[in-house]
Amino acid sequence: MFADIVIIGAGVVGLAIAKELSSIFNCIVLEKHPSFGCETSSRNSEVIHAGLYYPQNSLKTELCIEGNRLIYEFAEKYKVPFNKIGKLVIAVTKEQEEKLISIHENARRNGVCGIEYVSNTYLQKYSPCIKAHSAFISRNTGIIDTHSFMRCLEALAIENGATFSYNSEVIDIKKTNNEFEIFIKIDEGEIFSLKSPIIINSAGLHSDEIASMVGINDENLKINYCKGHYFKLNSSIFDTKHLVYPVTDNNLGLGIHLTLDLNGGLKLGPDTSFLNSRQINYDVPNHLAEKFFTAGQSYIKGLTLEMLSPDYAGIRPKLQKPDENFRDFYITDETARNLDGFINLVGIESPGLTSSLAIAKYVRKLLT
Ligand SMILES: Cc1cc2nc3c(=O)[nH]c(=O)nc-3n(C[C@H](O)[C@H](O)[C@H](O)COP(=O)(O)OP(=O)(O)OC[C@H]3O[C@@H](n4cnc5c(N)ncnc54)[C@H](O)[C@@H]3O)c2cc1C
Repeated sequence: MFADIVIIGAGVVGLAIAKELSSIFNCIVLEKHPSFGCETSSRNSEVIHAGLYYPQNSLKTELCIEGNRLIYEFAEKYKVPFNKIGKLVIAVTKEQEEKLISIHENARRNGVCGIEYVSNTYLQKYSPCIKAHSAFISRNTGIIDTHSFMRCLEALAIENGATFSYNSEVIDIKKTNNEFEIFIKIDEGEIFSLKSPIIINSAGLHSDEIASMVGINDENLKINYCKGHYFKLNSSIFDTKHLVYPVTDNNLGLGIHLTLDLNGGLKLGPDTSFLNSRQINYDVPNHLAEKFFTAGQSYIKGLTLEMLSPDYAGIRPKLQKPDENFRDFYITDETARNLDGFINLVGIESPGLTSSLAIAKYVRKLLT
C-alpha cells in the first residue's frame, strides 16, 4: 500500500492537517484509537486563546493569533458551536498589578486585538462573583465545541478523499532512500506496512516515540507529561459573563482559572502536575479539592469546598521541564537530520487547539 502522505495521529492537529492537505495530496491518517480525538484533544479547556502570554516572535504567538482568526471563521462557516465570550485577566491584589500590566504589554506587543482595561463597575456588572483589584479583558478569547470541530475536520478531509485508518498503531518506521516504510499493528494484532515519501508526526504525547522510530533520539525533544486536573463548581450562585484568569507567577501554565462551557457550566482548572512516568492516568483525586478551593476562594466570592467536585483531567505534552523557561512548538521538516519528508511536530501543548488550523497551513508551506 502507498500514500503521498501519512499523518500519524487523529487529534485536532492531525485532523486539521488532513483537511488542509487532502485537497492536494492523497493522505492516509493512522490513529491507534477507534476514533479521533481520544487523547489530549478531548481533554482540554476548549478555549480559543488570543495569544496574550507567549513571547514575541515565537511560533506559539504567530500560530495562536492566526489560528484564533481562522478557527472563528471556520466555526462560523461550518456551524461549529462557539461563543466569543471574552476573558478577564485579573490582579487579585495590588501587588499583582505589575504582573497584570506586563501581560497586557506583552499582548499589545504581540499585536493582539480587543484588549482593554476594565473598571470596577464593569466587573460588578459582568462578573459580580469575582473579587479583583484590577483587570483587563481579552475580547477575542472564546470557547468552542471541540468534538464538533474535530468531527467537521474529519468529514471535510474525507470529502477531499483522505482515508482514516482507526485502530491502527504505528509500531515502527524504516527509512529507505526516498521513502518510509511504516509498520502498523491493527486491532486483531495483525501487522501490515505502508510506504510513503512523507510522514507527518502529529502523535501528541507519543510524538517523541514516533520520532525515535526514525532515529531522532534528541534529549531536547523528549516530552514531559504534565497533568492538569479540573474541578466542577456545583452551584448556581456564581455569575460571570466571561472566563476569568487570575495572574500567576507559574510559568508552566495559566494558573487555576475559572472557565465556562457552552452550556454555562463552570469549572476550575487546570493545575500543573508533572508525572514521573509515562503511564497515562486521567484520575482526578478528591483530595485535590483543597488546593482548588484555596486557589478559587482567593478570587471567587462565596466559594466553599463543598461546591467542588472532581471533573476530568488532561496531560500536556511539554518540551519544557519543571525548572525550565518557555519552550516553543517544534514544527520542522527534518531534512537537516537526513530525514527529508519527515515533518516532526513535538510539544504541541496549549495553544494547540486554537492554533490547529494555522499549524496545518504552516505544515502545508513546509511541503509546497
Ligand atoms: C489540561 C489541558 C488544557 C488545554 N487547554 C487548551 C485550551 O484551552 N486551548 C488550546 O488552544 N489548547 C489547549 N490545550 C492544548 C491542546 O489540547 C493540544 O495542544 C491539542 O489537543 C494537541 O492536539 P494533537 O492533535 O497534537 O494531539 P492529540 O490530541 O494528543 O492527538 C495525537 C493522536 O495521536 C495518536 N497516536 C499517538 N501515537 C500513535 C501511534 N503510535 N500510532 C497511531 N496513533 C498514535 C493518539 O492516539 C492521539 O489521538 C490544553 C491541553 C491540556 C492538556
